[in-house]
Amino acid sequence: MFNLSGKVAIVTGAGQGIGKEIALQLAASGAKVALIDITDRIFDVLKEIKGRGGDGLAIKCDVSSWDDVHRVVGQVLERLGRIDILVNNAGIYPFRPFVEMSEQDWDKVLDINLKGVFNFTRAVLPKMIEQRSGKIINIASIAGSVVGFTNLVHYSASKAGIIGFTRSLALEVAQYNINVNAISPGPIETPGTKVLNKELYDQIRRAIPLGRWGRPEDVANLVLFLASDKSNFITGQNIIIDGGYTLP
Ligand code: NAP
Repeated sequence: MFNLSGKVAIVTGAGQGIGKEIALQLAASGAKVALIDITDRIFDVLKEIKGRGGDGLAIKCDVSSWDDVHRVVGQVLERLGRIDILVNNAGIYPFRPFVEMSEQDWDKVLDINLKGVFNFTRAVLPKMIEQRSGKIINIASIAGSVVGFTNLVHYSASKAGIIGFTRSLALEVAQYNINVNAISPGPIETPGTKVLNKELYDQIRRAIPLGRWGRPEDVANLVLFLASDKSNFITGQNIIIDGGYTLP
């Protein structure tokens, strides 16, 4: 549906779940995809992409490390020549009651979820500015934009930060024809959320008006739209994709 031939995309957290599906869909639409993750799973995802006739590369990287990210963006530019699309997807959501939350718990979530977005965006922007085009898509959460979730105060703060980051950066880089948008998913079935017990899983499903958990491809479809030229007049927005979970 969207033609991304000739485009180069970076997807963080591409080893599983939402990031993996985003990477597969971008590659299926013709983009060369740089798969970034802290785990080795990206090498299997790259094999899958190549097996389907797509192209890309896989580089292990901790998004919270500026040195790592700087090195990786240099490698992507060296091997693929340009960067058109950045999907900041890597994120963690370790449940912890606020009164038991340590400084280390707080720092880890903020470092990966929010500083990781700063690191990759800051590293790719000079190239996008030189190209006078670019699409930056940040995966936030309804927990940062619409509703509260117990035991996820650090996570909510990090995701709310992403939404503010998105709005202000969009304003700053619009002059270079760069679009910056956020997506706030509701509950999506991924290896990360599969750890929930069945009772909580069913309780959440019953709270979703469309009657099912979201799937990674639901989010990936929206990413494709925001990565394509069909969304050229949309910037600075936070788009909620939650099956109606936050409507009541
Ligand atoms: P997931 O299944 O846990 O996958 C995330 C991937 O990112 C994993 O491969 C993970 O590796 C990797 N990662 C973790 N820390 C990293 C780091 N420092 N550097 C590079 N990669 C790292 O997550 P998901 O459920 O697909 O969620 C993806 C994004 O969507 C996250 O930002 C999440 O907050 C957001 N989101 C998810 C939902 C949902 O219901 N699933 C809802 C709203 C928003 P490890 O396995 O080693 O951690």
